[in-house]
Amino acid sequence: DTTIGEALRLAASRWPEGLALASRHQGLRFTWAELDAAVDRTATGLLRLGVRAGDRVGIWAPNCAEWTLIQFATARIGAILVTINPAYRVNEVEYALNKVGCSVLVTAVRFKSSDYLGMLREIGAERLPQLRHTVTIGPDAHEGFLPWHTLDVSPDADALAAAGAGLGPDDAINIQFTSGTTGFPKGATLTHRNILNNGYFTGQTIALSDADRICIPVPLYHCFGMVLGNMAALTSGAAMVYPGEAFDPAAVLQAVEAEGCTALYGVPTMFIAVLGQPALETTDVSTLRTGIMAGSPCPVTVMREVIGRLGMREVTIGYGMTETSPLTTQTARNDPLEERVSTVGRVHPHAEAKIVGPDGQTMPIGQQGEYCSRGYAVMLGYWDDPAKTAEAIDAEGWMHSGDLATMDANGYVRITGRIKDMIIRGGENIYPREIEEFLLTHPHVADAQVFGISDEKFGEEVCAWVISRNGAALEAEHILEHCRGRIAHYKVPRYVRIVESFAMTVTGKAQKFEMRRMMEAELG
Ligand code: ATP
Ligand code: MG
Repeated sequence: DTTIGEALRLAASRWPEGLALASRHQGLRFTWAELDAAVDRTATGLLRLGVRAGDRVGIWAPNCAEWTLIQFATARIGAILVTINPAYRVNEVEYALNKVGCSVLVTAVRFKSSDYLGMLREIGAERLPQLRHTVTIGPDAHEGFLPWHTLDVSPDADALAAAGAGLGPDDAINIQFTSGTTGFPKGATLTHRNILNNGYFTGQTIALSDADRICIPVPLYHCFGMVLGNMAALTSGAAMVYPGEAFDPAAVLQAVEAEGCTALYGVPTMFIAVLGQPALETTDVSTLRTGIMAGSPCPVTVMREVIGRLGMREVTIGYGMTETSPLTTQTARNDPLEERVSTVGRVHPHAEAKIVGPDGQTMPIGQQGEYCSRGYAVMLGYWDDPAKTAEAIDAEGWMHSGDLATMDANGYVRITGRIKDMIIRGGENIYPREIEEFLLTHPHVADAQVFGISDEKFGEEVCAWVISRNGAALEAEHILEHCRGRIAHYKVPRYVRIVESFAMTVTGKAQKFEMRRMMEAELG
């Protein structure tokens, strides 16, 4: 029942000397007291630019310490932070900034990942009519695009106090874009209450305290980094450790060893990449205790290796979506091992969930249907899109996830796939997840994605893309042999491709709609 600005004051008084943030690629470190003071300066700088409560402030940058300063500073003065995917290019940025009416954009001048300034120049100020200021992150500020600032951060306690007065936990402070796994990303509007509490309950579930250091290689622009990372740290006193501006498995291992990280976050593909690093054998990861795997289906084989080879004995799986701040279920560290590797756990405190059938009826135990959730974590709505909001959140407040799930008698939830990804081949419903889990049992398969492509005869056909483990020689025929006789004939992929990589979002999720498009183009 508080705001993020107040929560940071509390953290600074409880753990003043404790490490709050280490941004390893920048060589920047802050204690909680230092972070609180730096956030005050950043917030004062934003006030001087004319930013007021409710104004939209965009941030378009890879992971860095400034990202988090801006996150906390906007919350402290009640501005709405708009988190823009660092992989966006000109068209997407123009759309996002105009869609939500950003008056200020914080961006990186020159980071390895992108020439953000060059892209802004390409768009041109006249096509961004509401944008008034751009603020730089990075070593060298430049002449350039619109009034170009580094913030004037000299103290002004009165202005800061005035801006903080009257802010409440139910104010909107965030527009977060979804991953864009199934199409165009949607902007979910979230409040202090939404994300502060979700960070808190998530941190409680993995028993975070000020003795913990969380390695956060997931993007900050996404709820996984900014909520499960930053908000869980803020509410528990754990440290945020950023290993790099974008995911790099070698940097993750270095960060874990150098900082003595106790927790590691990632989507399954990130854990697969870390486990595939030869350097793992010579890196000391013995400090790792816990972590969160989430974001897309978490294969049992990968979970077992994370526990066995990374030593993350208490690792949990989380399930959620940007629209629910994000997590609504999570395994707990003392759940039975079987449930911890094969389910997404039970419903979070203060959240409700139900599984509904095609006519909206609640399904019996064990039966599949659409997962819906309700409670404090549900977003206010999609920004400026009442029609889409009404499609997603019904009159009783239930958020419809678009995911298929079952719940067992003990309350454990299993996600069986996205409704959109279900393949209907000759009248048979096929769940890609099931085939993916099966393909991963082949010793030379590191990762697999299964999706449907249109087919004249059957309506849809099953297609599998497979990445081989450590470059092992692998051919489509090996995969087919592995499948035949072990899974139903209609589930055996008609098309198998051995590939180096999948089409991916920045959040590390495979974009099946892209892979489908590529396959359909290839097959004509
Ligand atoms: P978009 O909505 O833009 O297509 P997205 O749904 O991937 O993208 P996010 O909000 O980042 O955007 O992700 C939420 C989705 O991720 C969930 O709806 C679910 O499909 C999937 N997901 C998250 N965690 C898990 C998990 N543990 N197991 C299976 N699927 C998961
Ligand atoms: Mg979604």
